[in-house]
Amino acid sequence: MPPDSAAPDSSVRASPIEVLRSVFGYDRFRGAQADIVDHLIAGGDALVLMPTGGGKSLCYQIPSLCRDGVGIVVSPLIALMQDQVSALRQLGIRAAALNSTLSYGEQVEIERQMRGGDIDIVYVAPERLMTEAFLTQLERCRLALFAIDEAHCVSQWGHDFRPEYLQLGALPERFPHVPRVALTATADGPTRTEIVEKLRLGEGRQFVAGFDRPNIRYRVAAKGSSARHQLLRFIRADHEGDAGIVYRLSRAKVEETAQWLREQGLDALPYHAGLDKTVRAANQDRFLKEEGVIMVATIAFGMGIDKPNVRFVAHLDLPKSLEAYYQETGRAGRDGLPADAWMVYGMQDVARLRQMVEGSEASEQQKRLEHRKLDSLLGYCETTRCRRQVLLDYFADHCEPCGNCDTCLEPVESFDGTVAAQKALSCVYRTGQRFGAGHLIDVLMGAETERIASLGHDKLSTWGIGRDFGKEEWRSIFRQLVAAGLLRVDVTGHGGLSLTPACRTVLRGEQAIQFRRDAVRKAQRERVRRTAAGEDEGLFQALRKLRLDLAREQGVPPYVIFHDNTLLDMARERPGSLDELSQLSGVGQAKLSKYGEAFLEGISLFEG
Ligand code: ADP
Ligand code: ZN
Repeated sequence: MPPDSAAPDSSVRASPIEVLRSVFGYDRFRGAQADIVDHLIAGGDALVLMPTGGGKSLCYQIPSLCRDGVGIVVSPLIALMQDQVSALRQLGIRAAALNSTLSYGEQVEIERQMRGGDIDIVYVAPERLMTEAFLTQLERCRLALFAIDEAHCVSQWGHDFRPEYLQLGALPERFPHVPRVALTATADGPTRTEIVEKLRLGEGRQFVAGFDRPNIRYRVAAKGSSARHQLLRFIRADHEGDAGIVYRLSRAKVEETAQWLREQGLDALPYHAGLDKTVRAANQDRFLKEEGVIMVATIAFGMGIDKPNVRFVAHLDLPKSLEAYYQETGRAGRDGLPADAWMVYGMQDVARLRQMVEGSEASEQQKRLEHRKLDSLLGYCETTRCRRQVLLDYFADHCEPCGNCDTCLEPVESFDGTVAAQKALSCVYRTGQRFGAGHLIDVLMGAETERIASLGHDKLSTWGIGRDFGKEEWRSIFRQLVAAGLLRVDVTGHGGLSLTPACRTVLRGEQAIQFRRDAVRKAQRERVRRTAAGEDEGLFQALRKLRLDLAREQGVPPYVIFHDNTLLDMARERPGSLDELSQLSGVGQAKLSKYGEAFLEGISLFEG
């Protein structure tokens, strides 16, 4: 007879707040964490929606420690389990990951520890968890809970669907008394409904945190003649030596951009699904374990990356939707310190995304939905409102103008562009709906090029009617017309523009159009600063160096030793004793005894 897997009233060992303070070294729970932890400890099921960096992990780690038995954490990414486990072991928590890299002997040993109650938390991939052999093993263990991380992977509606997640719906039948918690940062309603249904969480409670990430500064600009130079200027001005992620749409662009950044002297690496497995793993490892590495990647990179001190996420190509944008940019600044979400985009990007939707095999209804998602994304790009407000509106959340996005910091002017739009649209029409923006702008501005002469375009009524704007302004207008769905770009041909049915009301003067006035070349902004007055940058750097040395000795990422916030606190407070050091956030008992002396010495040597 197996021991009754976690009876509802299984004995509680330490109180959650004690565990938070002594093991994790944090003072207090954030937001809904305390409620979630209590609910799980009491044996309830839950769905937790919290933005990246909100602190989801503690929600299941602390109940795993407080409840009797082992906490089983389901995670889709085997490669990243090991980092989670390293981080937990640094805290003195008995954790392991069951995956295919283990030898048979190691696996048997972990299973023995699970049965004997000698382990607190075990990470496992869904396909392994749901094998009959493993489920039978679990029936012989006391279980604290099941945590299903990245729970949106169960949703076919979302963008990270993993079929093996669907099997997890069978858990409650088999283990009716073990609490289950599903966690995700993906916000939208349909995904949430699907998670509840497929994972059978109907009886559970839902905890939905606000979606704002106040420390992330959102910035979006028009692509100039060289997007990569814009990126380079941004990194040099604001993020010299910082870790960051640069997203690109294709593998070829990833390779090209990474190489170019390296030629400019930056420590950039490529990451995409087409790379050799060992290269990919090595690049990810460097990104996690070293300071200041820039990862140039397709969206294949990022899910589950919990490196807390990614200081910027840059998009050189548009993401697929605002959900995707929110999730990708969410990888910046998980530690709560200032971080940038930076993006440039142009007409070609818009055209490419529209084309991808058009050319897909999806049903008409699905395509309409995809076009609507794209419209929301473009609306965000072209907005003159606070970007955070637009983003949060989309997720049915709200905020006041934030003061920490480009449109708040440098308000964007808009102007009545009805006449300009009519000129541009007529010019497209008169030239036969097959020319690209470059030629159309020449015509509007009355240029006397050979091409114009040979085509006879200088004889058209629209030749020279647009001299009131400059070239760049016309580029911006054409981009906005494409973004608004008034013009279509033929991406299979030569980027020729044609009219859409939506133009009619504009051409007839029945619809007014507002354009944003793109800033030409923005003045250098105030740098997003990590260190505030009173913190010693020199000492901070010295402590970072010490941390890196300690991390290398053990082959773990530096942030599992201490986070940047904790180092910044040390640089500011300059603790002189273990007792003073233990007061700082992020310094729990295990880390105090392992690293306390080394850091105190680092601080005193720096002073001496
Ligand atoms: P998520 O999984 O939601 O993206 P994490 O669980 O990785 O977020 O937590 C993000 C960061 O916040 C981590 O560095 C974590 O240690 C820190 N953190 C979480 N909860 C607290 C808390 N109550 N007090 C201080 N720091 C916290
Ligand atoms: Zn704002």
